Amino acid sequence: MLNIVTELTKLKRRIYISLARFTLKDQLVEKVESLPELLANADTPRYRCCEYKEQAILKEMIKLAMGFDPEQYKNMSLIEMAKQIDQLESDKRIIHVLSVACDRCPIDKYMITDACRNCVAHSCVSACPRNAIVIIQNRAYIDQGKCIECGRCKVACPFGAILENIRPCERACAVDAIKADYSRQASIDYEKCIGCGNCVRSCPFGAIEDSTQIIQVIKMLKDPETKVNAIIAPSFIGQFGAKVSPGKLKAALVEIGFSEVYEVALGADMVALNEAHELVERLEKGQPFMTSSCCPSFLSLIQKYFPEIADKASTTVSPMIALARLLKKTDPESKMVFIGPCITKKIEAQKEKDIDAVLTFEELGCILVSMGINLAEYELEEEIKDASSHGRNFAYAGGVANVIREILKEEGKENLIKFAHVDGIVNCKEALQKLVEGKLDCNFLEGMGCEGGCVGGPGSMMNSKITTRLVQKFADKARWKLALENKAAEEKRKSLAHAMER
Ligand code: SF4
Ligand code: SF4
Repeated sequence: MLNIVTELTKLKRRIYISLARFTLKDQLVEKVESLPELLANADTPRYRCCEYKEQAILKEMIKLAMGFDPEQYKNMSLIEMAKQIDQLESDKRIIHVLSVACDRCPIDKYMITDACRNCVAHSCVSACPRNAIVIIQNRAYIDQGKCIECGRCKVACPFGAILENIRPCERACAVDAIKADYSRQASIDYEKCIGCGNCVRSCPFGAIEDSTQIIQVIKMLKDPETKVNAIIAPSFIGQFGAKVSPGKLKAALVEIGFSEVYEVALGADMVALNEAHELVERLEKGQPFMTSSCCPSFLSLIQKYFPEIADKASTTVSPMIALARLLKKTDPESKMVFIGPCITKKIEAQKEKDIDAVLTFEELGCILVSMGINLAEYELEEEIKDASSHGRNFAYAGGVANVIREILKEEGKENLIKFAHVDGIVNCKEALQKLVEGKLDCNFLEGMGCEGGCVGGPGSMMNSKITTRLVQKFADKARWKLALENKAAEEKRKSLAHAMER
């Protein structure tokens, strides 16, 4: 997916930056109520029918950006929410359709466009098994009451004049979790949803958004009594521009108040070592295959749609959880903020007491802007050297499988394993189906919900191909090539013992 900065991106970032500034200056209660009017008034460009509708939408977006479900608190004003921010229940579902913003896009699946030439053959009419196509005033029309959405007319038309019109949100969801409700508004079935976040990127009206913990993180950072650690996902390289080195980002995070900054790639080293041994153990016990478990959406896809193989998924925790548990073990009072490209990590963190907050790279970028930090001109640097090249390469598709292969090669057990990897939910679904049917020739399958792996996550800001190249360069500079050589990771993994398991 292209990372285009659209008007919606800019609007969302303006909200995040404003909320961050208010929180920093202790002005949230005083100023939040007037924010919708500040962002959309009669003089500013409007994207909706009137400024009142635009402000109503902005109110919902602001509630989500404050970390709350706008539906749950629909009768509460922004100022009331700001006053009670520490008492209100935080958002559990994370991804929401904003009811006022949803434009109830058309759902007539097949439509005949102006490209119709009223040809002599009228193949569309002949192809339709329900006689749903009529010719009126030199043009074909579909009687939607008769149409059964079989698509034969589209295939038959030699001019490509028939359009298959699927709502962007429905098209984006590979597990059919989004449907129009009785009022044609998009609605998410959370029983089906696997939290991939693809719908958030897809809606051109900005009607699907995820909640943030921007305010909560700034409050943690402002509290002198609280030690806050930042743990940053391996795909952070290059997210803030090719000139922003990893060391600059680390120094900036320390400047804004994080006590320590760790690479989640250290957790990835621990996970790789654990998962490699788990794989061999399971195969030796006769299990036919094992799937990876570090992408929560892939894991959720298996649990919800392929329950018959759910017990074949690795029980090793994700790198985020492994590192957070390790750090909390040594300092239980410290707070842990995961920073990454991922929306599904926000959902994973809900179930994990050792993660206190999750920010996307985009949300972190807005916090830095609100604090007046321009990373492009930043000069300070701090060395960053927690992980091996292996752990850093977890960021892109194929990285996990490759690391496990290398570990087992070192141990002389590589020949036991046939590796495969897959990325993107549609491809993951297909591969899992084949695995269930015994048609995929592998006994270890790595699955990543995002195309290209974590580098393609919905909260990333950089093109995934560029990020992959930058991650590989950074990985080459690691102190150790192999996770096995990172003795600290191996010791830490052993010291955590069963805490490495889900
Ligand atoms: S794409 Fe879906 S969520 Fe967005 S406006 Fe259209 S129907 Fe609503
Ligand atoms: S988060 Fe993913 S699974 Fe859930 S509704 Fe959106 S696209 Fe579908």
